[in-house]
Amino acid sequence: MADVFDKCGAFTAARQIMAAGIYPYFHRMESGQDPEVIIEGRPMIMVGSNNYLGLTSHPRVKKAARDAVEKYGSGCVGSRFLNGTLALHEELERRLAAYMGKEATLIFTTGMLANMGILSSLVERGEYLLIDRLDHASIVDGARLSLGRMLRFNHNDMDNLGSILSRLGEGPGKLIAVDGVYSMEGDVAPLPEIMSLARTHGARVMVDEAHGLGVLGENGRGAAEYFGLLNEVDLVMGTFSKSLASIGGFLAGPEEVIHFLRHHSRALIFTASLSPADCASVLAALEVMQAEPWRRKSLRENAVRIREGLLELGLTVGGSADPVTPIIPVTVGDMLLTFQVWRKLYDMGIFTTPVVPPAVPPGSCVIRVSCMATHTEDHCRKIIEAFAQAEEEVLGKGETLSLQIGYQA
Ligand code: PMP
Repeated sequence: MADVFDKCGAFTAARQIMAAGIYPYFHRMESGQDPEVIIEGRPMIMVGSNNYLGLTSHPRVKKAARDAVEKYGSGCVGSRFLNGTLALHEELERRLAAYMGKEATLIFTTGMLANMGILSSLVERGEYLLIDRLDHASIVDGARLSLGRMLRFNHNDMDNLGSILSRLGEGPGKLIAVDGVYSMEGDVAPLPEIMSLARTHGARVMVDEAHGLGVLGENGRGAAEYFGLLNEVDLVMGTFSKSLASIGGFLAGPEEVIHFLRHHSRALIFTASLSPADCASVLAALEVMQAEPWRRKSLRENAVRIREGLLELGLTVGGSADPVTPIIPVTVGDMLLTFQVWRKLYDMGIFTTPVVPPAVPPGSCVIRVSCMATHTEDHCRKIIEAFAQAEEEVLGKGETLSLQIGYQA
């Protein structure tokens, strides 16, 4: 008789990788999440975090969280829809709408839930959701939950998007959903071309600014602001779990869309709302982000510094140089070799994140370096030096462990 647990016992890949000493996941952090962290008792330089502006430890952000707990308590024991709407949520929605220059905003408990809740309810049967092949998993899962049809176009391939749109014709409703900055690749969506195709073919556009917010654009509003298209883009989705130093997600757009989602989005209605501390942290982080533009500048300088240093080593560095983004992927290719490089860097006190399938296509594994505004020049130098050593001792040799892990990578 088959047992649903059989697959769990048969899943040995992770245990083999653990036994080989190169398992890169679930490492325990025992400090705040600054550029220098303590991981499993060891001081390390963190260069694998989305804390782009370094605001998780900002005194104003921490104080706002403490004050919110004092006033509202530890959690929201219910959904926004019923008993979980606090004055804090409404204030954050007002401030985000004003910041983004959109009519209204709706906040969700996580960014993942935001994409799932937006896409699944906005795209109905008979309608189409067009997504980039490298869009974040939350967009893919939102598309899977939608009763509309998901069509994927090749990454940043405007000819491919154009031909799909032409084939669909003007009849059905269509939404194009893209990441503004791609979370693993660090490159940027060609929004001018996307907007032009969308207008020609009568499609709406949503940009996920998870990694653009606080990073790109004159005021840190993201990729759409960078391209001067914030007013044109129909919907801007964002997360609080990166530059805004907390957890949660939001959608900014026309009031009628927000009103519809408030009454249809299952990921909004059937989950408890953002906790008071999280909500207050985001409000404070938003203020600090606007008041301290030096953070954005410093982030860009660090990204350029690290990018150029890695390129000088002859490594295959992806991402985007213009505009520069803080996500700097170094291509390794093979999964086990990627874990070996990761381990070498870890041993040298540098914490990076390896990215393997399904987050990237098989055979395209990378070490993802993501910098922060608060890294110093000395941190950047040490990061580059560690890569030089990893290149010499592991990557350059290319000697992959021979493990039969039964996993396509
Ligand atoms: N969209 C993108 C592009 C992301 O990278 C992420 C998280 N990495 C999310 C959405 C989900 O956000 P959250 O972590 O806040 O759930």
